[in-house]
This record gives sequence, C-alpha cells and structure tokens, in this order.
Amino acid sequence: MIPEPFEYHVPKTLEEAAQLIAQFGEDGKLLAGGHSLLPLMKLRLASPKHLIDIARLDGLRYINEKDAYIEIGALTTHYRIESSSLLKEKCPLLPMTAREIGDVQVRNKGTLGGSLAHADPAADWPAAAVALDAELKAVSTTGERWVPASKFFMGLMATALNPGEIVTAIRFPALPARSGDAYLKHRHPASGFAVAGVAVRVTLDEKGAVESARVGITGVATAAYRASAVEEAIQGKSPTARNLLHAASHAADGVEATGDLYASAEYRSHLARVYTERALAAAVERATASR
Ligand code: FAD
Repeated sequence: MIPEPFEYHVPKTLEEAAQLIAQFGEDGKLLAGGHSLLPLMKLRLASPKHLIDIARLDGLRYINEKDAYIEIGALTTHYRIESSSLLKEKCPLLPMTAREIGDVQVRNKGTLGGSLAHADPAADWPAAAVALDAELKAVSTTGERWVPASKFFMGLMATALNPGEIVTAIRFPALPARSGDAYLKHRHPASGFAVAGVAVRVTLDEKGAVESARVGITGVATAAYRASAVEEAIQGKSPTARNLLHAASHAADGVEATGDLYASAEYRSHLARVYTERALAAAVERATASR
C-alpha cells in the first residue's frame, strides 16, 4: 500500500520543529530515521496529515562524555552507537544493544531517539534505557525537561511524552569500576525483534561479590521493565552459577507477559529467565575481568 497524502515539512532548526509539531497537534508526526513510522504509514496504520522531517537537524547527532554520563543526541543512528569506540569503553551496553537491532540498513537509518519515542514493546533500546536508568530530554515550545526511563515507557507504544515534545538527547551513566555489561536477546525468527531481550550491568565489590545489578527486560510485556526482584536477589551475593540461576528465576515476577502466535506468555516468561541468567553470567565475567 502507499501512504495517505501528507504535507512534508523540513524544519531548519529545533525551534522551528517544535513550533511545527505544536501547531499541527495530533495531525503532525515527527520523522527521524523513518524505519518505524514509514512502514506504519504504508500500512495506513498511521496517517499523519503533516510529516515534520527532523533528520537534518545535525545538532541532534552526537555522542559526548559528560562527567560520569554519556549523552547521546536523539538523532544518533544505531550504527554510530554500535561503532563508537568511546561507548565501547565507557558504556559498552549501548554498542552491544545496537548491534542486535535489525540489519545494517536499519542500523544506518534508525535512530536512538526514534526507537525510544516509538516504544515498540519488542524494541531493543528500552531494555538498556530502563536497566541503566537513562534520562530522556524532552523539548517543546514551552520548555524542556528530563524524564527518567523508569517513567517514560507507559505501555504498548505509549510514552510519557506530552503532545508537542521532541526527544533531543538521552543520558546514560558510564560504566563504573569493577563492572560488566551484557545484552542478550532471543530474536523473533521473522522480524528479528526481541521476543525477550535482557540488558544487564553488574558491579562487583572489592571481594568479588555483587555490589549492584541492574536488569532491564524488553519483549516480554507491553513495555520494557526493570527486573527489581532479580536485582535484589543477587545483591550482596557471590556471583556463583547457582546464585545467578536463583536470581534469574525472578525475571518475570509480577509481570503480565504477552503471548502471540510465536511465543505464549508462559514461553516468554521462560525466555526472560533463561536470558537473564545468561546475561548476568556474561556481565559478571566481564566485571571480573576488569578487576
Ligand atoms: P521513526 O520511524 O522516524 O519514528 C518512529 C516514531 O517516533 C514516530 O512516531 C515519530 O514521530 C517518533 N519520533 C521519532 N523521533 C522522535 C523524537 N526525536 N522525539 C519524539 N518523537 C520522535 N528495532 C529494534 O529495536 N530491534 C530490531 O531488531 C529491529 N528490526 C527492524 C527491522 C526492520 C526491517 C525495520 C524496518 C525496523 C526494525 N527496527 C528494529 C526498528 C528500528 O530500530 C527503527 O529505526 C526504530 O524503531 C525507530 O527509529 P527511527 O529513527 O526510524 O524513527
């Protein structure tokens, strides 16, 4: 199918983009990499009357280190994140996640901000964002605010963004000492999206016990979630295989898993536990090697 007719706008500045999206309200949509929105438009599941193409706002394409944080412009592509040597050293979870997304064409066009704003329940980025307690900067004609990832994903393709807000940057905490990251996913055999995707950061104390663990899970429920029960179960413990297995058994606690033709809710919950155990083990191995 071809999309319904729309008017195409190319703002030259962020301010102009914010004015346009405020002006058109529900009739307007931002276009970033277009790799989620355009397929929806072609299927006529989305029919915006005004398309506001922000892809040329080059000021929103950057990766910067700021104190203990890494700040990434919303228009930074998955590929740029995947190939960033700064991120490989300072926040390896992000390149690990980026390389799991789609194929090279998708990674060359799709953007971090677009993926987070789209909030597909099977997208990869939300797992890393909730695991690391990322913050998203939302800008509109009336001001700007930082929204924590824990409050950003509200449900199926629903976010805390107010009408007229544009995500301009995302801030992630850098990798502390004695820490390791891991992102592992069970790919849907047709779409490649996450049936279950688990992002983990483990920090060990000086004796090698788990000082803290952060676990974000995507694909399993209508929105990515932080697996707090896993984190609590492993905190302060020695990261033995048995303790990791026990902690991972809580990966779907309190979660209403979704089911579909490929994976029942029960199977998704099972995958969440299996991939959490594997991701914890991989992160612990990296944290141990960094001590
Ligand atoms: P767009 O499609 O341009 O926009 C998506 C939505 O977000 C729109 O509603 C738009 O208005 C809004 N939006 C965009 N930017 C902003 C902003 N800065 N502020 C506020 N709202 C904004 N994703 C995965 O996670 N894992 C996969 O395995 C995967 N496989 C894929 C395979 C294929 C074949 C395709 C086509 C896509 C796949 N994707 C996958 C999705 C891909 O990662 C998209 O790039 C991403 O989800 C959306 O980013 P985008 O920049 O293309 O956003």
